[in-house]
Amino acid sequence: RVIAFVLTLIGAIIGGWVTKATVPSGLFIHNEFIPSVTGQTLRVENPSTGEALGTISAAGKEDIDKAVESAKAGLQAWKAVPGPAKGRFLLKLADLIERDAQDLASLEAVDAGVLYTDSMGMNIPQAVGCLRYYAGWADKIDGKVLDMDGGIAYTHREPLGVCAAIVPWNAPLMITIWKLAPALVTGNALIIKSSEMSPLYAQRLAQLVKEVGIPAGVVNIVTGEGAIAGQSLSEHMEVRKVAFTGSGVAGRKILQAASRTNLKKVSLELGGKGPSIVFDDCDLENALLWTRIGITANNGQICAAGSRIYVQESIYDRFVEAYQKAAANAPTVAGNPLDAATTKGPVVNCTQHQKILDYIRQGKESGARLLFGGERIGDKGYFVQNTAFADVADDATIMREEIFGPVASIAKFSTEEDVIAKANDSHHGLSAALFTNDINRAHRVTKAIESGQVTVNAWAMLSPNVPFGGVKESGFGRDMGEDAMESWTTVKAVKYHILPRL
Ligand code: NAD
Repeated sequence: RVIAFVLTLIGAIIGGWVTKATVPSGLFIHNEFIPSVTGQTLRVENPSTGEALGTISAAGKEDIDKAVESAKAGLQAWKAVPGPAKGRFLLKLADLIERDAQDLASLEAVDAGVLYTDSMGMNIPQAVGCLRYYAGWADKIDGKVLDMDGGIAYTHREPLGVCAAIVPWNAPLMITIWKLAPALVTGNALIIKSSEMSPLYAQRLAQLVKEVGIPAGVVNIVTGEGAIAGQSLSEHMEVRKVAFTGSGVAGRKILQAASRTNLKKVSLELGGKGPSIVFDDCDLENALLWTRIGITANNGQICAAGSRIYVQESIYDRFVEAYQKAAANAPTVAGNPLDAATTKGPVVNCTQHQKILDYIRQGKESGARLLFGGERIGDKGYFVQNTAFADVADDATIMREEIFGPVASIAKFSTEEDVIAKANDSHHGLSAALFTNDINRAHRVTKAIESGQVTVNAWAMLSPNVPFGGVKESGFGRDMGEDAMESWTTVKAVKYHILPRL
């Protein structure tokens, strides 16, 4: 069947280099790009301009059924591939991602508004590192030998079967690889549902999966509406796990779908409202740097964003003044995320843009002090100023709800106990940062914070060998590290009864 290759991207000049990435528009099922059964498509938009880039096939229920049938065949083929060879496929995929990094970064930029320089400097190296890390596990998945009354037992880890990854748009390649790498190395077949807001990178990833030579059906990649394609995967009786990153609303629907169908395993990486805690004994310049990065990186569209900044009262005024000055001294360059000089791209779409501006309005009405920002930028595309409010009340909406935009809420605290109570007074528990030069205080506070990760004297450092995930309503399950391996496998116990000598 002829597939329309509709998406030819604007040539982007970055330091003299010109990209013209082209991706197929079909669903990637059984190593082929095919249109959806119903012919349904989605509009792909450039958030810098609001203009359409083209259309892409949108998966419906029948397409998901096809992907599952393909994955069942892929699973059998993958079983026949020895562990070390599985690892070599991951290594080769990592090499190809590095080879095509410029195209992948361009696709994330035109589609999701991610800065090209951020993709090249962070998202793509993290994805590559994650593949190489899990490739190293390929020959190290083993079990235990256990003595038992009347015999001996051993355990081994087995794949779950056909699994699904439902991913968001904010750092799409990296988050997809966080799921793909451990899923494959543990022997599963994976159906990836990319976000309808940023499907382009996934189309290129599919091409690379094919080029690597991974057997057909081991990886299928589809896009489509969450309520249709995502839900069909979550309800499917033959899907054994859904690994999800996204909003709490969608996470709850996936859990409900799993509970009313086949009780599939679910892991949820959901939102956050991360506290960044600045003690008066810290290196103030360092704290200023990271508390700014923590809420402006990727326009604050990061689940781990440090959106609540608590500063100890003895340095509060000094910090607030310096925070304001630092923003004034480093004006943002808003524009095309493909351009290396741009420091601020657009937020992902009109809805997200409106949502952020609404939160800013609520901040202004709450009586908090606007330090800087507070407006949209220009009248084309979805740009919004970096914004900070000081003296924000504990119960203000901008202090409590995840904004997923570049909006910092700053407040004062008195003692260690006071700030621990404030930091933990949230439904979320994904990521926290604290700034102190007192090692005992650092240990006390990191232990007391209810959060999946706490970073000391920086913000949200990532490494493929370190687990990432949340507590409370930020979800459960972990991406990355050895901890993720368990969630992609099940353990089988084999028991031998040793008969007595006659
Ligand atoms: P979203 O929940 O709207 O969408 C995420 C994915 O879920 C998309 O692929 C979407 O199509 C799908 N989806 C939507 N409804 C669904 C349903 N009913 N059933 C199955 N799938 C469905 O989230 P988003 O707007 O793409 O991302 C923003 C949210 O994701 C924020 O809350 C953010 O904090 C969170 N996030 C969390 C992490 C993390 O690691 N914890 C990372 C990035 C983003």
